[in-house]
Amino acid sequence: MKLKSIKEWGIVDDKPLVISGPCSAETKEQVLAIAHELKAVGVSVFRAGVWKPRTRPNSFEGVGVESLNWLQQVQNETGLLVAVEVANEKHVQLALKAGIDILWIGARTSVNPFAVQEIADALVGEDIPVLVKNPINPDLDLWIGAVERINLAGIHKIAAIHRGFSSYESTKYRNVPNWQIPIELKRRIPHLPMLCDPSHIGGSRSLIAPLSQKALDLDMDGLMIESHITPDLAWSDAKQQITPKTLKEIIDNLIKREVKPINISLTDLEDLRHHIDNIDRELLNMLGKRMKCVEQIGQYKKDNDMTILQFRRWDSILKTRVSQGVNLGLSEKSVLTIFKAIHQESINIQETILSKSDSK
Ligand code: PEP
Ligand code: MN
Repeated sequence: MKLKSIKEWGIVDDKPLVISGPCSAETKEQVLAIAHELKAVGVSVFRAGVWKPRTRPNSFEGVGVESLNWLQQVQNETGLLVAVEVANEKHVQLALKAGIDILWIGARTSVNPFAVQEIADALVGEDIPVLVKNPINPDLDLWIGAVERINLAGIHKIAAIHRGFSSYESTKYRNVPNWQIPIELKRRIPHLPMLCDPSHIGGSRSLIAPLSQKALDLDMDGLMIESHITPDLAWSDAKQQITPKTLKEIIDNLIKREVKPINISLTDLEDLRHHIDNIDRELLNMLGKRMKCVEQIGQYKKDNDMTILQFRRWDSILKTRVSQGVNLGLSEKSVLTIFKAIHQESINIQETILSKSDSK
């Protein structure tokens, strides 16, 4: 996939890139007041929702095309770049006509290949950056598919935005981060720039700083954070918006770590990694031995018509391993996760053995 780094987009060179602005453009005064304050605190890209995908009807669904003029005024008065969400061909055409600098595809749109393809078709021949939010459901292939559709339309300035995933269970997050998904996306497409949207992951002001730090520590390239001059009075997503002043404090307090700081010898780190490689090899050896033993047990159970799951035995394994692990400084949660995975693999092996018909 041919992709350009954010620096190669030729319009911004901020590290991390910070995109900020209100969830929704509400009034011309609100948009301009926020934009001027953001400009003053050093932000270079302004975001605002023009068309809002809302969960329930009768909520505020954005002002629509009229507010594109306000964004042009933001460009003229502040020199900020402006970004809007597009969800269909018409939005793309109107945004391009209004000279919008950056488009983004929201989570409720990237979930739908028809809609993404319609947007991609409308972008053929254009050279505009497109940010692709993860789909609301935790489906990495769907996210990659949306990026591919935009890329196949000839767009090379693409970034992914991690904004968390819906879950039925209530958690402290509005959308659970499932960090392993953006990490795996980065592994699969290393040159795809990645931003994080802590506002929609957290859903509350207090989570924005820790989530932003985590994103930077995972080597993400930037942040999209919702801001408002009077957050409590916002017409959408009031709980998660912060003032430009708070945004500046959060950004100033972020620790910017490097993957490989210059002027530092990494010999100590390399030694430690070598040590880890050896430990992992031993771990795999031991796991291999454990599974051989599991096979023998499977055969025994088969010969004696015993069930695979022996609940008492499983319960005692979990209890003893957790207490052994905790004594070794591991957390109960991680021991449980590891042993449940090992146990599942053991069950799979035994199932295969029990279901094999004897060739005698
Ligand atoms: C937004 O950025 O305002 C938005 C609607 O986000 P998402 O698509 O992540 O829900
Ligand atoms: Mn929002």
